[in-house]
Amino acid sequence: GAPPDVLRLEGVVAGYGDATVLRGVDLAVPAGRVVALLGANGAGKSTACAVAGSMTPAAGRVLLEGRDITAWPAHRRARAGIYLAPEGRGVFPSLTLEENLTTWLPDAADRERVYERLPNLAGRRTVAAGALSGGEQQLLALAPALVRPPRVLIADEPSLGLAPLVVEQIFELFGELRDRGVGLLVVEEKASEALALADTVAFMRLGRISWQGPRAEVDDDRLAAAYLGLA
Ligand code: ATP
Repeated sequence: GAPPDVLRLEGVVAGYGDATVLRGVDLAVPAGRVVALLGANGAGKSTACAVAGSMTPAAGRVLLEGRDITAWPAHRRARAGIYLAPEGRGVFPSLTLEENLTTWLPDAADRERVYERLPNLAGRRTVAAGALSGGEQQLLALAPALVRPPRVLIADEPSLGLAPLVVEQIFELFGELRDRGVGLLVVEEKASEALALADTVAFMRLGRISWQGPRAEVDDDRLAAAYLGLA
């Protein structure tokens, strides 16, 4: 049968102050599946990620494996298995790569597993995180998820501004997590790597999901229509 949903947003309305951004969003992320959330700048994709990871919506519900976590603060959601891949990389710039990793993975054996899987990080362990390339920082921020797979991983524009080779590594890592049963929600403005990996695609427009369905049903016409608001 179909895998259970690890994450669900139901009828979510959310915004900032008086500005409503999400106008009734329903979105499901099944275990071991990749959902690509696509849509133009300002459509509300980042806000949808925030509602999943940390923000309490004005209306609607957020469910983690069926449990209502709508009112839970970010740290409790993180402990329960929601991994919000930090935007702006989320590393401590003045600490070395190794020190950053130690804050998440105090066990040296866990860190060695990271270095084995991501050898390009191993050679950089004494470098201040702030001096790493954007791609290295992104890999560093994702590394803890490799050793301790979350229930659901949410990545907001994970490839933004990164070199193609690193982007490839990041999406390989996503595929690996998916194969281990993690549900992934990957946000991109333009359809690209996220679409290639996706099982399900959701388009967001003006704070609503304008279309969602299997990857196989997404072709160029569908993409064009979705971005133009015709879907
Ligand atoms: P982008 O690719 O630009 O991030 P998006 O689809 O992710 O687009 P959001 O970032 O969710 O969309 O933004 C939707 C709207 O909410 C925009 O009008 C944006 O200006 C506004 N917004 C986003 N974050 C905040 C915030 N922290 N405070 C106030 N307004 C915000």
